[in-house]
Amino acid sequence: MDFRLSDDQIAIQDAARKFAREEIAPIAAAHDESGEFPLATMKRAGELGFMGIEVPDSYGGSGLDTISYVLAMIEISAADASHGTIVSVNNSLYCNGILKFGTEAQKQAWVVPIASGQEIGAYALTEPHSGSDASAMKVRAVKQADGGYIINGSKCWITSGPVAQRMVAFCMTDPDKGAKGITAFLIDTRNPGFSRGKHEPKLGIRASATCSVEFTDYHAGADCVLGEPGAGFKVAMSVLDAGRIGIASQAVGIARAAYEAAVSFSKDRKSFGQAIGSFQMIQQKIADMKCRLDAAELLTLKAAWLKQNNLPFGREASIAKLTASEAAMYITHQSVQIHGGMGYSKEMPVERYFRDAKITEIYEGTSEIQRLIIARAETGLR
Ligand SMILES: Cc1cc2nc3c(=O)[nH]c(=O)nc-3n(C[C@H](O)[C@H](O)[C@H](O)COP(=O)(O)OP(=O)(O)OC[C@H]3O[C@@H](n4cnc5c(N)ncnc54)[C@H](O)[C@@H]3O)c2cc1C
Repeated sequence: MDFRLSDDQIAIQDAARKFAREEIAPIAAAHDESGEFPLATMKRAGELGFMGIEVPDSYGGSGLDTISYVLAMIEISAADASHGTIVSVNNSLYCNGILKFGTEAQKQAWVVPIASGQEIGAYALTEPHSGSDASAMKVRAVKQADGGYIINGSKCWITSGPVAQRMVAFCMTDPDKGAKGITAFLIDTRNPGFSRGKHEPKLGIRASATCSVEFTDYHAGADCVLGEPGAGFKVAMSVLDAGRIGIASQAVGIARAAYEAAVSFSKDRKSFGQAIGSFQMIQQKIADMKCRLDAAELLTLKAAWLKQNNLPFGREASIAKLTASEAAMYITHQSVQIHGGMGYSKEMPVERYFRDAKITEIYEGTSEIQRLIIARAETGLR
């Protein structure tokens, strides 16, 4: 087993760290405060190749491996988790699904503009009455004589929904068949019949714009079906398996930022005449934070390694996401505590890390759903 990174992996890690520290970190607090989508830095992310990291160059991407994607996501999320969310949805949920299930024509038309960063992609699975139980969705697509479909209904909680030009959306085409009656569609949000609804005011990742979207007699041509009709649930779940590696990386990035801030503060802050880092109770927190951070990072890299070597990785992606998101909650919580009153102040980024960490336990499958996936894989029971 070799824990060393390749030259290409070190290069993208360095490039992502430079971009994150010089261009993202300085604007993170202001965008968190205003909730404004960071269009300019996302455009830069596209120019630097971070919007299609694993996408082959022939489809506008950087042609790198999954470990490279993890390394870039960690650096970007350590500077700002909102940027991490947008990058992860673009890479994992949008590009990855079309690369895996799309035709050659679909990859050319639908991946190139997004992986190259000219446009932004989104993923629309959740509905007001179906989140964890995605197969209970109600958005309906009805087949037409020309082979196309008419789509009606609402999706909610769509990351980048307010700005995305394109999205992958999941619709019920045969309600009698339940999960086997779902079909994935490629949606151009500039077409008639698509509109955007309520923006979600959020606890964290506030600059990653989130809204509901509405389909009103939206026409999707037959060439916009992604994968086979009726196989949409499989597409959705397969995309989420890979997506969880991105969310685990985001959690590691947030956790690392909170951990580093805590270590630095514990060396500078004096109490009772000594650095607070010399108190055993603070040292215990730092040791526990470091163990959880390293475990989360290693599990995430393991899941990425399995994926890039075409080995089964679904269970490991869930283990990584569950461990990393809970580590991020623990570490950001302890970091606020180590900072005392300053941990509660908006003058430092620690309270933002704490608010941002929470989402990693919720989206792309809650922690309860991850436990369910892991336990089912272990026991074979449903
Ligand atoms: C900021 C943000 C961004 C998002 N971005 C996107 C996006 O881009 N695209 C998209 O499609 N969706 C997105 N989502 C939706 C997200 O994936 C869902 O919120 C999530 O899957 C949970 O679904 P829910 O909110 O309906 O909760 P529910 O499914 O209603 O769950 C409520 C609670 O019940 C628990 N629960 C549910 N079922 C079980 C069970 N079988 N066993 C044990 N416990 C269970 C859950 O774990 C949770 O604690 C986003 C959400 C947020 C908050």
